Amino acid sequence: MRACIGGKLFSPCAPDRSLGHRRCSSVLRDAPPMPMSSTPAPDAATLTQDDIRSWPKAELHCHLDGSVRLETMLDLAQQQGKMSVLPADSVEGLRDELRQVEASGTLEAYLAWFDYTIPLLQTEAALRRTAYELAADNAAENVRYLEVRYSPILHVESDLSLEAVNDAVIEGLRRAEADFDITTSLIVCGLRDRFESASMRLAELAVEYQHEGVVAFDLAGGEAGNPPKGHLHAFYRARNNLLNLTIHAGEAWGPDSIRQALFYCGAHRIGHGISLRKDPELMQYFADHRIPLEICPTSNVDTQAVPSLEAHPIETYVRSNIPVTVNTDNRLFSRTSVTKELWRVHQHCNLEARHLREIALNGFRYAFLPHQQKQDLLRSVTDDFPLAETAETPLW
Ligand SMILES: [Zn+2]
Repeated sequence: MRACIGGKLFSPCAPDRSLGHRRCSSVLRDAPPMPMSSTPAPDAATLTQDDIRSWPKAELHCHLDGSVRLETMLDLAQQQGKMSVLPADSVEGLRDELRQVEASGTLEAYLAWFDYTIPLLQTEAALRRTAYELAADNAAENVRYLEVRYSPILHVESDLSLEAVNDAVIEGLRRAEADFDITTSLIVCGLRDRFESASMRLAELAVEYQHEGVVAFDLAGGEAGNPPKGHLHAFYRARNNLLNLTIHAGEAWGPDSIRQALFYCGAHRIGHGISLRKDPELMQYFADHRIPLEICPTSNVDTQAVPSLEAHPIETYVRSNIPVTVNTDNRLFSRTSVTKELWRVHQHCNLEARHLREIALNGFRYAFLPHQQKQDLLRSVTDDFPLAETAETPLW
């Protein structure tokens, strides 16, 4: 029997299990204009990483197969007789090996690290476990809303059907929702370096699971030489069935990739968008049309999309009034968490506590959830937020 988190969470007719007690809000606030200032805000010296850990947060860009616990990798390899898959036979050894991720140099080299996890995620039990643990780890740092993404076609080497793969992941997330204070959704990824027919099948799977846990369709994988419009028909299938769309774009290719993602494929959000800064008119379009960016700062350094956190364009985007969210991309490979990513942009990207507050809330404002559910969630976390809004955070 198919797992069905979406039946409870996303059907417009069904009561919302996790949010039913929340108060409703009639006001959604948008990312505020953030004027350039040469003097640090008074809170800049006092904000701590523990403060950020305590904030209610959302995670919108997180890959299941890049976010496995180290201990679980080792455990799964031992259970499945696949120790030869791993580069080390201890947690410490694996940790040492994975420190080399930051020297990947290219997106393609970074993606090669997934060869250590994907072979271990070919059973329903492994998929269920990793999905559960990922949601648990997010809940432990007070992430209240999590969108997990993955490409089911990478998990059929042991002849699981795509539906069996998806059911297992959804079941893991559903169990975590029962155990922790977290709401989850799933995003199905097409793969840009495969034929469009594969993306079409994945788009059809995403449509099949719409209202049953899947909220969006994405395009992931090596970007250079694999433009989004090569998967146009898959995106049309998803869009014409009213699925949300996000696309990795502008990470390892220029603004043309972002334009294709928006204007050929109809993306509602853009993953990364690092090269957007090269196209000022397109930047203005993002601000005017409130198109959110899913920024993953450490991953962007690991893939050399940017040479350092200090060189990251996130400050430019924030101060240009583009809706920015901060995410992990891959908790395992980038050895990070949502808390660490927010802390790092505070430490290295000249963003103050009041900016981080709006970025954290943007994770809820731009979630792929039905409007009313999103408003309820946003109101509840805004009420819980320990930092007050400031004069620079006007209502939308
Ligand atoms: Zn990604």
